[in-house]
Amino acid sequence: MDQNSCNQHMQSADHFSDRYCRECKKYFQNAHNLRQHLNSRTHRGSDVKCPFCNTGFVTPSGASHHLETGSCPGAPRLNRESIARVVQRLDTTGVIAKKQIEWHEQNVEYVANSSSWNGSGYECYLCHRNYRTLLALNQHLKSPAHAQKVYHCPNRGCAKEFTALAALFNHLESESCRFMRFENVQRVHRQLTDQITSNRRITLF
Ligand SMILES: [Zn+2]
Ligand SMILES: [Zn+2]
Ligand SMILES: [Zn+2]
Ligand SMILES: [Zn+2]
Ligand SMILES: [Zn+2]
Repeated sequence: MDQNSCNQHMQSADHFSDRYCRECKKYFQNAHNLRQHLNSRTHRGSDVKCPFCNTGFVTPSGASHHLETGSCPGAPRLNRESIARVVQRLDTTGVIAKKQIEWHEQNVEYVANSSSWNGSGYECYLCHRNYRTLLALNQHLKSPAHAQKVYHCPNRGCAKEFTALAALFNHLESESCRFMRFENVQRVHRQLTDQITSNRRITLF
């Protein structure tokens, strides 16, 4: 092999391709680190935009988390609960929303009153933990510990369910159910965001 073809070989896509970033001409300790690097802002940019305040995010799950935690200055009324209701209304065929009947049955809001006092504390009637104040118990009842799973993975072969859109997108981004590549997850997120913000029916991606 002459020097030229040797160089070519060293730079080719499959030479240490599991730990070499060709764009940055940089080697990584292992495939995992390279993957993290490829998923970072350096390569992904922050091109997932919040439709309400235009803040850029690296991932669809980051943008969803921003809205579901009520942190968007452009849409302060949006949170996990209100987004779930909108998706439930628009997703009539159940692409990602769990069926309406299940959803209504499971989304009874639990509110505790003084009858939860068991002599030593206010007791959660779902998991029997004790709380010192009624306020603390009611906060616990609203926490993810008791939040209902209102979404399912759009991949019919995958039975995973989620309490939040951010968790659903996180699942898709991890490619753990092999439903789609990262690029497609971004496309799905854009499409879903368009359908939600224009109040259109949610259709198959
Ligand atoms: Zn790179
Ligand atoms: Zn957070
Ligand atoms: Zn925002
Ligand atoms: Zn509980
Ligand atoms: Zn899945």
